[in-house]
Amino acid sequence: MNRYLEKVLNETKSKNQHEPDFIQAVDELLRTIEPVVDEHPEFENIALLERMIEPERLITFRVPYVNDEGKTVVHRGYRVQYSSLIGPYKGGLRFHPSVNQSIIKFLGFEQIFKNALTGLPIGGGKGGSDFDPKGKSDNEIMRFCQSFMTELQRHIGADVDVPAGDIGVGAREIGYLFGQYKRIKDVYEGGVLTGKGLSYGGSLVRTEATGYGLIYFMTEMLNANGQCLKGKTVTISGSGNVAIYACQKAQEFGAKVVAMSDSNGCVYDQNGIDLDLMKQIKEVERARISEYAKRKEGVEYIPTKPGEDSPIWSIKTDIALPCATQNEISLASAKKLVENGVIAVGEGANMPCKEDATVYLLEKKVLVAPAKAANAGGVAISAVEMSQNSMRYYMTFEEVDQKLKNIMTNIFKSCQNAAEHYNLGNNYVAGANIAAFTKLAQAMKCQGIV
Ligand code: NDP
Repeated sequence: MNRYLEKVLNETKSKNQHEPDFIQAVDELLRTIEPVVDEHPEFENIALLERMIEPERLITFRVPYVNDEGKTVVHRGYRVQYSSLIGPYKGGLRFHPSVNQSIIKFLGFEQIFKNALTGLPIGGGKGGSDFDPKGKSDNEIMRFCQSFMTELQRHIGADVDVPAGDIGVGAREIGYLFGQYKRIKDVYEGGVLTGKGLSYGGSLVRTEATGYGLIYFMTEMLNANGQCLKGKTVTISGSGNVAIYACQKAQEFGAKVVAMSDSNGCVYDQNGIDLDLMKQIKEVERARISEYAKRKEGVEYIPTKPGEDSPIWSIKTDIALPCATQNEISLASAKKLVENGVIAVGEGANMPCKEDATVYLLEKKVLVAPAKAANAGGVAISAVEMSQNSMRYYMTFEEVDQKLKNIMTNIFKSCQNAAEHYNLGNNYVAGANIAAFTKLAQAMKCQGIV
């Protein structure tokens, strides 16, 4: 590894010893941008990498609320305002018990590069809380969101920082957050949050954007390598926002989705997932995926063993789409996928493959659509939602969907061109990192030492 890169990586490790997810994200990026850093020895003198890795600001705050039993519960809220180089901080909020500083920083770091790839004027940020929405009543969710926003409102704004959803934060939560922001600020500032409901400033296609975008990117990648999605078998981990709309678009494009999962287990439906039933169980009833196997004949339910990867990666498939969470594909799962003949892996979730799993998949000539590029459709359409709010205007479903297709095609081309330029073949993981890093490095050089 280039000496400057090695120095920065070692410093990052020693400064952030208790943040393994963050170190992993930085490590993966630094290992792939070596050819660019080699060409620019001047980066070291202006501490370009150090400045890119250190967030502009990290805010933590107390979030108390009263639960339905009348007990006061205290959670921790986070917002990392990572980079405003190319636009206002932009990135989702995650409500999940596993949320900590390491996870928020890894997600924020990834977000800067993802947002740069969209070609739109958005910086990078991320936030959330260790609050678990699962099993909570609507009133509890509302009280929590109001408390969270009471503190967050002083740090955000349509031209400052624009949060959206992520794990555990969907349309319901965004609605409560927006209501509280408006109440405190006494202003209708549509562009302060994205993923809003359609009745009060949301954009068509935002709900579907990440999942659809993943499939648009996958289609481009397959086509560029002489393959297509039609007739392929697909497995999709997760059954939340990204997974459901990836499933919908994959089915529309003629693929057969045979398995989906949640954190408790997966369902294997060899006749193809019935998406209406899945949506009823997951979006309407907010129930466990095991319900799906109870209600449809011939479906196998395989529980996840504690501490192990989801059993979904042992199911034979042509294309695997991890759409649940970080590090869900270990090296062992990558090996099972390869044994079973997988040809492509598309990352709907953020950093779903462990570093050694990605290296192994690439070595085995499996096509990998990296998260920063492949799941960028969500934030891209969030930026389109912001534009509509600024213009006091609504685009039709077809207009936004066409925009999403164009954006995903352009992102794929950027990854492909960067990989070709540095003789990296079809290593789109490196291609995505290089394309995004090059753009950000240029912006950083122009703006002086800040
Ligand atoms: P949702 O909350 O809608 O769904 C998450 C899904 O993943 C659920 O099925 C959930 O199962 C499962 N899951 C979550 N955590 C774990 C875990 N620790 N182990 C196993 N399964 C888990 O979230 P999204 O669909 O919005 O997000 C999924 C991924 O996509 C995340 O990595 C997110 O960062 C990424 N992403 C999301 C975008 C968006 O627009 N929403 C944009 C870009 C990336 P259970 O219900 O059992 O917890």
